[in-house]
Amino acid sequence: MDDASYCATPAPAGPQADAGPPFAECVLCREPTEYPESARGATLCPVCAWQEAGRSACSG
Ligand SMILES: [Zn+2]
Repeated sequence: MDDASYCATPAPAGPQADAGPPFAECVLCREPTEYPESARGATLCPVCAWQEAGRSACSG
C-alpha cells in the first residue's frame, strides 16, 4: 500500500514583504513621502513640507 503521510505544508498567505505600500513622491524633490499614493493634493516630504511652511509663514 502506498499510503504516504500527508505532509503538505500550507503556504503562508501573508502579505508580501516587498517594499511596503507605495508612497507618493514629494512633488518638489521626488523623495518618497510618508503619504500613500492615494493621498490627495501635493505631497511633500518632511523636509520640503518644513521649508514650505517657513516660506508661507514669511510671505503670508
Ligand atoms: Zn521633498
